[in-house]
Parts: sequence; structure tokens; C-alpha cells
Amino acid sequence: MECACQNYNWIKIDKEKCIGCSLCVEYCPRDVFRMDDDRSAYVKYRDDCWYCDVCTFVCPVKAITVEEVPYLIK
Ligand code: SF4
Ligand code: SF4
Repeated sequence: MECACQNYNWIKIDKEKCIGCSLCVEYCPRDVFRMDDDRSAYVKYRDDCWYCDVCTFVCPVKAITVEEVPYLIK
């Protein structure tokens, strides 16, 4: 049985809000994001995220949210 955590994504991008500026791709220190063909960002390497919150800070339209993860499983 596949663990549900495999599919869980704690980084959320609101595609309706994203304006395709690619700042998140540029600034994420762990290189988590990529741009879609339709010029919106998506999470490509979720497991590389280290919860620094830089993406939520740089996104000009606040399209990204990074959920709080309990300290012990960070
Ligand atoms: S929280 Fe930090 S490491 Fe994670 S996706 Fe955002 S910028 Fe990248
Ligand atoms: S920083 Fe925000 S608006 Fe810009 S590409 Fe990333 S999610 Fe979209």
C-alpha cells in the first residue's frame, strides 16, 4: 500500500493568482519550482523543500503557501 505522504504537497500554488513572473523559480534556494507550459509555476521537487518561506515572501501576488510542518518531521 502506498503511503499517503507520497502524494501530500505542503507547498501550494494558487494557479488562479499566479502571474508567471518566475521569481519563485529564481529565488528558491532548493530549486523546487519549475514553470509550466502555460507560464504558471508548479512544484517539481517537493522533497527538496526546507521550509525557508522565501517563495511566499518573493511571490508578488501571494500565490504560494507553505504549510507548517511539525518540527520533528522537518
Ligand atoms: S519554502 Fe524555501 S525551499 Fe521550500 S519551496 Fe519555498 S523557497 Fe523553496
Ligand atoms: S512568484 Fe508567484 S506569481 Fe511568480 S511565478 Fe511564482 S507563484 Fe507565480
